[in-house]
Amino acid sequence: MPKFSEPQLIAGNVLTMDPDRPRAEAIAVAAGRLLAVGTLAEVAAALPPGTPVHTPGGAAIIPGLIDSHLHMQWAGLKLLHLLGEPAGDEALPLERALAALDAEQPHWQGPDPTLEQRLTGLRMVQPVLHALGIVAVVDPAVVPAELAAYVEAHRRGELTVRVVAMPHPDLDHGAAAAIAQLDGIGARTGLGDEMLRLGGVKVYFDGVGKDGSALRREPWPGHEDEAGGRGHQRVSEAEFEALAAWCARERWSLGVHVVGGGGIDAVLAAFARIDAETPIRELGFTLIHAYLEPSPANMELAGALGVLVAAQPAIHWWNGTNLEARIGPAARAANPIRSWLQAGVAVGGGSDGPYFPLDPRLGLWQARTRVVRDEEAPHEPGLGLDAEQALALYTTGAAAVSLAAERRGALAPGLAADWAALSVDPLSDAAALREAAVVETAVGGTVVHSNPIGDPA
Ligand SMILES: [Zn+2]
Repeated sequence: MPKFSEPQLIAGNVLTMDPDRPRAEAIAVAAGRLLAVGTLAEVAAALPPGTPVHTPGGAAIIPGLIDSHLHMQWAGLKLLHLLGEPAGDEALPLERALAALDAEQPHWQGPDPTLEQRLTGLRMVQPVLHALGIVAVVDPAVVPAELAAYVEAHRRGELTVRVVAMPHPDLDHGAAAAIAQLDGIGARTGLGDEMLRLGGVKVYFDGVGKDGSALRREPWPGHEDEAGGRGHQRVSEAEFEALAAWCARERWSLGVHVVGGGGIDAVLAAFARIDAETPIRELGFTLIHAYLEPSPANMELAGALGVLVAAQPAIHWWNGTNLEARIGPAARAANPIRSWLQAGVAVGGGSDGPYFPLDPRLGLWQARTRVVRDEEAPHEPGLGLDAEQALALYTTGAAAVSLAAERRGALAPGLAADWAALSVDPLSDAAALREAAVVETAVGGTVVHSNPIGDPA
């Protein structure tokens, strides 16, 4: 695999996702970053004479894709658990890897995984992600053993996917205990480097959509007379607000798992009270999932506070039919990414893999079509994104949710030289994009996946 520590010119049909220059003929790479983006002549002029030209081929070169919600270590362990340790250096066929990752099977069984098992899992899963054009992830709930494995993988030079790790403190013993855990060594969001960095603190506010435990404003149908009929609130408002306020004061970012409208109301109300004391706009506080009945008022408030949303088209695809059976036609408006965007909220795309399918081609297609599993008619297709918005979800939007918008997500001078070359133009037909092959993926100018024929995977 070529390693482009030397200056290099990459030529092709470049979709930059940089509004200042949406299209280009070439990019110049030096020391892992983009030096210039523009016409062939402009880019060549920025490089020493005789700089080699590399043409990945395919129909388009796009910024490397980012999954802003992927439990990468669990994905690796699931591959190890279901497929066993690979014998040699042979790459895992993509279809086989995806079938294992999507299998409705436990991610892991038996004693807690050892460090070496975690590292093996990472060695197995990262090439799969690169074969899908993925260059970076947010791992959205990292316990100490997981962070230790990421640190060790990085030390060994085995981390090829950029990781933003969100520490997940235990809130079962209250905010004060969680704060004591987090405050132990004075680390903060942002500590790390371009391959491994601490993201925001991750906490869970409510349950999930698929079993009726997300916190709604009204009871779940059939549970009207039950205490807790609106769903499961995993932490009291007071404990949640105490932790969130501490995060704001201490400049920790915060990502909150919150699915239902009742939960979203409570989390945003707490954020608004905190913001009056300690402005949160620069901190990248994020609603994670937020797909079930977010209201126009929620969207307006999130926009005003600078709160981000991490959205997962794969969850909508997976759960759409089941949700409709539980709550009726209101379910068809689930995951209204377009409405969040219209309210001025930055939205990052992701998968919640391996709990849901992690293939970004499925996510890009679903965000545009709003097709759900086992149903022919899409759910409120008017809420679907256009092709460019969908691509932004997995590039600039996911970079924002990664708190890395200044460093990656677009092909623009100064940003990381992370790209993917695809066999189809991602701004064309959504169905064709779902079948696209990733011809090449590069992280920091180093090619980490190459399939020059562009064989459909
Ligand atoms: Zn998750």
